[in-house]
Formats: sequence, C-alpha cells, structure tokens
Amino acid sequence: MEPGSSEAPAFSYHFRPAWLALVMECSGRCLRCVAPGKPTVDHVIPLDLGGPNTIENVQVLCAACNSEKGREILDYRERGAWRPRRAGV
Ligand SMILES: [Zn+2]
Repeated sequence: MEPGSSEAPAFSYHFRPAWLALVMECSGRCLRCVAPGKPTVDHVIPLDLGGPNTIENVQVLCAACNSEKGREILDYRERGAWRPRRAGV
C-alpha cells in the first residue's frame, strides 16, 4: 500500500492511531448501545452520501448498530460521554 494514498478504504481505519484513540476514549464500547465488544468504523455521514473519509466523520459503533444505522446520518458522538479529539488524520 502506498503511504500517501488519498483513497484509503474504510477498513484502513482499524490500523490508524487516530481510530485506535477513538476506541480507547470510549473504552471500546459502542456509542449507541454501550455494548462492549468488537468496535466497527461507522461513518456519521455515509461515504455514499458524500461523507468524507476522515476521522472527524467516524464514530465507534458495534456491528449490530452499524448495520441498523444503515445509510442514515446519525451522530452519536454528541450524546456520548466522550468528545472526539481532533487527532491527526
Ligand atoms: Zn451498538
């Protein structure tokens, strides 16, 4: 993979320090149902609705909530106990 590639697929977030920082901040819990488990990358504004593939557009949801949210624009970060940091993308 090219380090400077501009078109990184969503799953690449699982390997990014900024994503890991988000997971650490919410203790690996889903922002919607607070279930611990395997966190997945959810785009607040889905990519196919024009959402940017940046860390600011990413929230931590479990797989069930992620698929239930589908293509809706729902930001669970604002109601959560933690605030996203502007970690380097
Ligand atoms: Zn959940």
